[in-house]
Amino acid sequence: MIVLLLGAPGCGKGSQAKKIEAAFGYLHTSTGDMLREAIRKGTELGKRAKSAMESGQLVADEIVVSLIEERIEALEGRSGLILDGFPRNVAQADELNKMLAKHTLKLDKVFYFEVPQEKIKARLLARRVCSVCQKDFNMLTNPPKNSKCDACSGEVITRADDNEETITNRLEVYEKSTQPLLDYYEKSGSLARLDGDKEIEVVFQQISLYLTGEK
Ligand code: AMP
Repeated sequence: MIVLLLGAPGCGKGSQAKKIEAAFGYLHTSTGDMLREAIRKGTELGKRAKSAMESGQLVADEIVVSLIEERIEALEGRSGLILDGFPRNVAQADELNKMLAKHTLKLDKVFYFEVPQEKIKARLLARRVCSVCQKDFNMLTNPPKNSKCDACSGEVITRADDNEETITNRLEVYEKSTQPLLDYYEKSGSLARLDGDKEIEVVFQQISLYLTGEK
């Protein structure tokens, strides 16, 4: 099962991807997480991605395509793959089609999370993440119980790109480059629109209905 999560930064893709991985065993693949890890480790790839990420622009297609290619090759024995944050533009979507076809796989479902524009910015400004296990928190709706991560007691931090200026750039990039994917996938008939403004559990129940074939 190949599942793609689509929506603006802060729409809840990452939280839902983690829940899908835990419940269904699909391999969670977040290009953003992979790039942040590459930067932390100081790899060549991380060095190439750093400035684009810091300014809220997209990193080069060839970098993220190579990351996804590796994950598809590592899929053996897994029940599925969750793509979180890839593709981000039509060129990447075309590359994804080619990679899947090469491995005789197909995209089964695209979930699009609709969240009102005015809520997105507030969500991103309130977002925090565990620096160790990457668990997501939101200081308004889902804060850590004490100042440390609930899951692993790691330090809870604000992501470097969750600041006003970078958020503005990321939302512009989303509108210009990623939003056209809605049409792209609507035409393919695989798109399911979800109300991403609902509670995490409610959104996940909707997703589960699709993944179990009940919807
Ligand atoms: P995310 O964690 O998905 O919000 O991604 C954080 C940042 O990583 C983005 O603002 C981009 O700079 C970069 N990034 C993540 N995924 C992609 C992608 N598919 N294509 C290009 N850049 C990406």
